[in-house]
Amino acid sequence: MVWEERWHPLRQEWVMIAAHRNDRPWSGETVQESSEVLPAYDKDCYLCPGNRRVSGKQNPEYDGVFVFDNDKPCVGLSAPTDLQPPPGIYRNQRANGIARVVSFTPRHDLTLAELSYEQVVDLLVVLQEQYRELGAHPEINHVLMFENKGAVVGVSNPHPHSQIYATNFVFKTIEIEVEASSRHFTEHRESLLQSMIRAEEEDGRRILISSDQTLSFIPYCARYPYETFISPREAHGSLAGLSRDELEDFGAVLHDTVVRMDNLWKMSFPYVMVFHQEPTDGKPHPGFHFHVEIHPPLRKPGLLKYLAGPEVGGGNFINDTSPEEKAAELQAVPSVHYKKA
Ligand SMILES: [Zn+2]
Repeated sequence: MVWEERWHPLRQEWVMIAAHRNDRPWSGETVQESSEVLPAYDKDCYLCPGNRRVSGKQNPEYDGVFVFDNDKPCVGLSAPTDLQPPPGIYRNQRANGIARVVSFTPRHDLTLAELSYEQVVDLLVVLQEQYRELGAHPEINHVLMFENKGAVVGVSNPHPHSQIYATNFVFKTIEIEVEASSRHFTEHRESLLQSMIRAEEEDGRRILISSDQTLSFIPYCARYPYETFISPREAHGSLAGLSRDELEDFGAVLHDTVVRMDNLWKMSFPYVMVFHQEPTDGKPHPGFHFHVEIHPPLRKPGLLKYLAGPEVGGGNFINDTSPEEKAAELQAVPSVHYKKA
């Protein structure tokens, strides 16, 4: 059992590991993930091929990955310019940017874990193109790509998809990571992720998948149970920097990781997956190292990790589990999806 505080070098913050109380009595709310069998096509889904969306636009009869501008964007090139001046010390700015939706497949009933390895690589190629295209806009300073998966993280539509927020500001997590990475690179002449990877490999207990070019692991300083990083060994600023060979290797490890997550409880494993990519603000970001972080919200099937006083109010996490034990659970499951096994 682990009871200690661990430093998170990318976020520059302490994580309280309190695994000694993981089995404390629980009388709180539990959540239910739907076990409903989905159709391959849903006429009411805004992502399925041929369907009409709220904007009135019609999806093509696509058969691979399909990208479109979000019909209800939080940032847009048409955002209002005539803003009310803020009172006193406050500031505001235009909600300038581009928000897009990326449908992984025409199939309504599949998840990333259930796609073929080739489909995962195709998706990553599309995301590379999106990063290059959106990042080239002078007014876009950062391209955030993420997948919210599962009803417990607020996704009402199960059709597998991710979102892109290309914004005029740099998201806070990335801003902190840029600063921490730059400082580390100046001092150690290698990226922070490379130092983390070395430490993980020396220890070995939290590694899920290790290949020639990619490592999947639960970091020593994990904030969530089952929080997983997937990182190329080479430091590239973004997904777009990966060669075809590296991309295929990365895709295989990413796929294997999400398959194991589904296999753990034989259910579609909910998570928030975020691509950590360097800002596109035209400045240098020495030592920035592209990787993916997966933040699963469940502690156990049906049992949510609530974000409360310490996390929401204090800004630091309590992890009630031992990252070593959670990694061992994911190491022990098969790498063939349970639905295909
Ligand atoms: Zn659909």
